[in-house]
Amino acid sequence: MNLIVVLGAGESGAGAAILAKKQGFDVFVSDFGKIKDEYKAMLEKHQIPFEEGQHTEEKIFAASEVIKSPGISDKAPIILKIKERGINIISEIEFAGRFTNAKMICITGSNGKTTTTMLIYHILKNAGVNVGLAGNVGKSLALQVAEAQASPTPPEGGDAKSSQDTVNQNSSPFGKSGGADYYVVELSSFQLDGMTEFKADIAILLNITPDHLDRYDYKFQNYIDSKFRITQNQTEKDAFIFWEDDPVIKAELAKRNIQSELYPFAIGRKEKTKAFIENEELVIKILKSVFKMPEADLAIKGMHNIYNSMAAGLAASIADVKKENIRQSLQDFQGVEHRLEYVATVRNVRFINDSKATNVNSCWYALQSIKSPVALILGGTDKGNDYSEIETLVNEKVRALVFMGVDNAPLHAFFDGKVERIFDARSMKEAVDIAYRQAKSGDTVLLSPCCASFDLFENYEDRGRQFKTEVRKL
Ligand code: ADP
Repeated sequence: MNLIVVLGAGESGAGAAILAKKQGFDVFVSDFGKIKDEYKAMLEKHQIPFEEGQHTEEKIFAASEVIKSPGISDKAPIILKIKERGINIISEIEFAGRFTNAKMICITGSNGKTTTTMLIYHILKNAGVNVGLAGNVGKSLALQVAEAQASPTPPEGGDAKSSQDTVNQNSSPFGKSGGADYYVVELSSFQLDGMTEFKADIAILLNITPDHLDRYDYKFQNYIDSKFRITQNQTEKDAFIFWEDDPVIKAELAKRNIQSELYPFAIGRKEKTKAFIENEELVIKILKSVFKMPEADLAIKGMHNIYNSMAAGLAASIADVKKENIRQSLQDFQGVEHRLEYVATVRNVRFINDSKATNVNSCWYALQSIKSPVALILGGTDKGNDYSEIETLVNEKVRALVFMGVDNAPLHAFFDGKVERIFDARSMKEAVDIAYRQAKSGDTVLLSPCCASFDLFENYEDRGRQFKTEVRKL
């Protein structure tokens, strides 16, 4: 009997366990931390055995394959031991991909994944396409695939489960069926690391800047290789959408032999650019088809969002969505919470919540998009940041810096002596109060932290919500 062990019982793990069970595997779920009640209830409902607060090795090592949550590091002791035993470790997306024929539109990059994923979903949904949202956002892909499938009936001639030698799609007695025609899937590098056979029909690589290097042996190339997995297994029938002017992507393309059809986008048009800005219009040109709309009509603002809109427009065009539908959806998309989200204006000071800016590059785009002087709140868990990327913009635009973290030393080490007005805060209330006092009429207070949030907050959503609460109290 094939046993699937699922490590980590969050959204992806619980979904993977349910799909595995539906596919007729024995399943065991193990989480070293505490499992949220909602996921416990899901597992119980499907009669899937699980443990929390520990990893029982003998059960785990009996697995024919392990599905690992992207949150668990490859260096975790249990993972090293599983690898030593030669047991295959995959991600939930890889597993789910074996049991559906739906087309996959997959989005990765260091920044802009969620925005672009939501935007593509918005366009397809409004165009009446039967589409699911998955990956880092929405419900787990595995759960959606499981829910789309009827309960398995073993094929004629005996016990299907015992006839499974290896755990792969070809050996599934139940095949692929049902569900959405398209899934729009946001993929982090951690998810991509656990993917080998999965193929994106439409792959999007928005940009690559250093991030999460702590999980990649502090080698940027390892992180780049992980991001490029988005193109693996693609054939000439598939599409690869990417930012043409990204220096890292450019250098990498010169080294690689990508099989898929290339759809580069950029602000300035070059010979092969498929989406670009011309005469203040966003243009998408694929073969003889030309889509145009005024740049000013795009719902989400800032240069980075032009890129995101281009990538989304290209993906929708390749998926044969009508131009009218694309135009309408690019115009009325509401944006995503915690990404350059306008909060309020208090005594002519604008407050912007960009809590999701967990690296330096996203803060660069935030500063770049704001025209007024800025009181910038930044800080948190530093992932080995290099702040020189925002130095010029800080000099140009920032009236005051408010460092908000348990350990502000790395920020002081970089900015002391370079910026006149620097303050330390240990809570959101303190940070908002200081920033508000420093701002003059017409200024913007921007929360764009460059860092993870786990030192003072539960997560970036908690940080963003606390920011909004404190602003509203003003
Ligand atoms: P991700 O899912 O990759 O973290 P989000 O869409 O959640 O991306 O945005 C994260 C942060 O990056 C936000 O601060 C946002 O303003 C900024 N951002 C969004 N799109 C881009 C882009 N294309 N390039 C750079 N920064 C971006």
